[in-house]
Parts: sequence; structure tokens; C-alpha cells
Amino acid sequence: MFDIGVNLTSTQFAKDREQVVKRARAAGVTGMLITGTNALESQQAQRLAQSHPDYCWSTAGVHPHHASEWSAETGNTLRRLAASKEVVAIGECGLDFNRNLSAHDQQEYAFEAQLALAAELNLPVFLHCREAHERFLAVLTPWLPKLPGAVVHCFTGTRPELEACLAAGLSVGITGWVCDERRGLELRELLPLIPADKLMLETDAPYLLPRDMHPRPTSRRNEPCFLPHIVQQVAGWRGEEAEALAQQVDQNVRSLFSLT
Ligand SMILES: [Zn+2]
Repeated sequence: MFDIGVNLTSTQFAKDREQVVKRARAAGVTGMLITGTNALESQQAQRLAQSHPDYCWSTAGVHPHHASEWSAETGNTLRRLAASKEVVAIGECGLDFNRNLSAHDQQEYAFEAQLALAAELNLPVFLHCREAHERFLAVLTPWLPKLPGAVVHCFTGTRPELEACLAAGLSVGITGWVCDERRGLELRELLPLIPADKLMLETDAPYLLPRDMHPRPTSRRNEPCFLPHIVQQVAGWRGEEAEALAQQVDQNVRSLFSLT
């Protein structure tokens, strides 16, 4: 049971990062991918991964929220980082037209630059798409034949959007968003449509604490040790055994990111 979305560099984990990793191990999480969201945090993510060999890996990239920070120097920093063995993907990168923290043209520029970098380095991409489905696929599609793999993390789109992502060959990351009784219902119904070998699971910690945990954690902070809850719920909604799903997901992750 592998967690592909852990924002371990978040200041919300400043006081107890080591404990967070320990609790994840104790809960049966078999590994985690630490998300890099800008140049600085990608460096921090790589260092964190380095200090947990064979358990943590990281991505190097610039989140669409930070796209306005993109420069040629950013590309060089990511390229340097990608040379270390802990860095197994470029990202998170993509488009976010929900919060629009960077202008659309800046987002598309930074996205395309990272796709080019991933193609150059022959690395898979860790993708973010929110309310930008059409532009997202339009920018991404020409690059896909040059990339060894791609996962669209924290998928929260519609059925036609899911079908388009699957048709493009993308793997799909599902978070505890799906456990939300208010906004996760549509996604829940889509779960059986995702082929077993394309499904990945993630907490997106410290964000998106699953809303249906009993008893409710005292803090609203999400942690990778809550991944088993997401596995359990997703397995139920797919009509599968949790243990089999956990193993399948672990295999999918190790194969896409070539983890040894
Ligand atoms: Zn994201």
C-alpha cells in the first residue's frame, strides 16, 4: 500500500516529520512519494527522501500555483535534482484553473517546460489538473509518446474526463476526497471504471483528511498513516478485497516510477 501524494515538506509537519514517517510504516504503508511543488520544496523533498532510503522517493517540479516563479534557472535546478536516485518523477506540474494563483499563460508555459524536461530525462510525470481538463489534455497529449509514464494525481473530474484520461493512457490517483459524503459521491461511482493496473492511491497529506473516519482524528491534519482507511473504502466501492487492492497499487507505483 503505497502513498503517491505526501506533502511532507509542509510546515504542518515541521514539528514531527520523523514521527509521521514512523506512524506510516507502523500502519502498513509500504512506501511514499514526497511531492515537490516548487524549486525549493523539491530540494527539501529530495533531502527528506534521501534520509529514508528504500521507503521515500520524491518528485521535482513546480505546481501550477507556483507557475509564475518559473525561470530558466528553475529548469536547471530541477534537472540537477532529477540526477539523484530519489527523484523518480517530474512534477507536480499541470494546470489549476480553480484557484488561478498564477495566470493561465504562465501555467501553460511552466507545464510545457516540465513536460519537455521529463521527456529529455526520460522520467514519468506527476500531474495536477483542476478545472482545466481540456487545456490540460491539449498541452499534455503531444508529449505522452515521449514520456515513460504519467499519473494524474488527486483526480476529481467527471466521467467523460476520466474516460479521456484513461484513453490517453494516464494512471489515476485517488485521494480521500472520495470519502467526502458531500462532494465525493460522483467520484465514488467512477471508481469501478478505473482498470486495476491504472489505479494509484494517495492521502495528499496534510490536506484532504478523509471525512468518514471513525473515530475522527482529533486534528484536521491528514497523514500518510491514514492511507489504509482510503484503501479500505476504495476497495469496498470497487467490490475488491482491501489486501489485494493494496498489493496491486503498490505494484502499479513501483512499475510506473521504476522503484527498485
Ligand atoms: Zn495537486
